[in-house]
Amino acid sequence: MTRVDSLPVTGVGSLAPMEVASRLPALRARLGEAGCDALLVTKLENVAYLTGFRGSAGMLLVTGSSALLTTDGRYRDQARAQLDEAGVDAELVVGRLGEQLEALERATGGLRRLGLEAASCTWSFERGLAERLGAIELVPTRGVVEALRVVKDAGELARIEAACDIADVALAQVKGRLAEGVTEAEFAAELEFEMRRRGADGAAFETIVASGPNAAMPHARPSARPIGEGELVVVDFGAVVDGYRSDMTRTLCVGEPAPGLAELVDAVFAAQRAGVRAVRAGVRAEEVDAACRRSLEEAGYGEAFLHSTGHGVGLEIHEAPAIAPGSADILLEHGVVTVEPGAYLPGRGGVRIEDTLVVTSNGARALTKTTKDHTL
Ligand code: ZN
Ligand code: ZN
Repeated sequence: MTRVDSLPVTGVGSLAPMEVASRLPALRARLGEAGCDALLVTKLENVAYLTGFRGSAGMLLVTGSSALLTTDGRYRDQARAQLDEAGVDAELVVGRLGEQLEALERATGGLRRLGLEAASCTWSFERGLAERLGAIELVPTRGVVEALRVVKDAGELARIEAACDIADVALAQVKGRLAEGVTEAEFAAELEFEMRRRGADGAAFETIVASGPNAAMPHARPSARPIGEGELVVVDFGAVVDGYRSDMTRTLCVGEPAPGLAELVDAVFAAQRAGVRAVRAGVRAEEVDAACRRSLEEAGYGEAFLHSTGHGVGLEIHEAPAIAPGSADILLEHGVVTVEPGAYLPGRGGVRIEDTLVVTSNGARALTKTTKDHTL
C-alpha cells in the first residue's frame, strides 16, 4: 500500500490544478445537441464544476457567448474569489432570489429555447420561471453537464486519488480496533475522525459498518451492535478532498469466518477481480456488470447479488456512468468508476468488495489500494 500519512503540508494547493476555464466552452458546444440555445444550471455540483464556485446556493446561466452566476449575499466575496481563481469569465450578480431572477430575466432576453436541468428543478421553480420568462420556451434537459463530468482532468484525478489515499491510511490505522469489541457506530466514527485528521474535508457519504446479520443488508446503518469474532464486517466508506470523493468497501473478519462464510468471501473476491479485469476504455459498462454477475452465478450466489456493480465517482458519490444491467454507458478513458459486487445471505452475513478505479486504454488503475484480505 502507498503510505500517505495525510495530505501534503501545503494541502490541496500542491495537487495538480484543475482546468475549470475550459469547461464552459465544452458545454456551449453541446447546447445545440441538447435542444436549447442556453442552459440554466441549477444543480450545485454542476455549477461548481463549470465555475469553481462552491457555495450552497446559486444558479448559472450559460448562453452561446456569455455566462451569468447568481448567488446570495452570504457568498459575495467567495463567489468572486472562486471565479477569479478558476479563471472563469462570468458576470456575477449577488442578491436576494427575486433580484437573481430579475438578472436572469434580463440575461435571457432574445433567447428562444432555455434548457433547464430537469432532475434538479422543482415544479414550482419551473412554473415561476415560465411565468416570468413568458415567450421563451423552457426545455427539459438531462445529464448535459454530467456527461462532461465523466472524463476527469489531471487535477480532478489528483483529488480523487488523495481522497482514496486518505481512506486507505485511515482504515489501516483503525482496523485493529475491530478485535476490541467496538460497536459498528464507534468504528464508523473512528474511521471518519481518522480521515478528517489526515486532511479530508469530511466523509464522502454516511459510512457503512455492518456486522454479522446486519452485513446481509447492503446499506445497513452503523448500530450499537458490538462486533464479534467470526462475523463478517462490511465497511463501505470514503473521504472528500476539495469536493472530490473516494469510495471503497472491504469485508473484514475478527478471527476466521464462521462456517460457510469463507466461501462467500472467496466468491465475491473472484467476482470483483473479474469485474476489474473487464474495465477498459471503450468497453460497455454492462459488460463489467455481467462479468461480476456471471462469476457469482457460477459460484452459486447469483441470487445473493442484490445491487448493480458500480458507478462513476467525482463531485458526487454516485454519478455517470452506471455499471448495471441494461446500462447504455460506455467506459471512457480517465473516467473514474467503482466495481463493487456483493453477496448477502439473510440472517447470516454478507460480503462486498469495492475499489475506485481510473479507466485507461489498457485496463483499470486502482486508486484504492487496501488489501482485500479479510484478516485484520
Ligand atoms: Zn461504497
Ligand atoms: Zn460505491
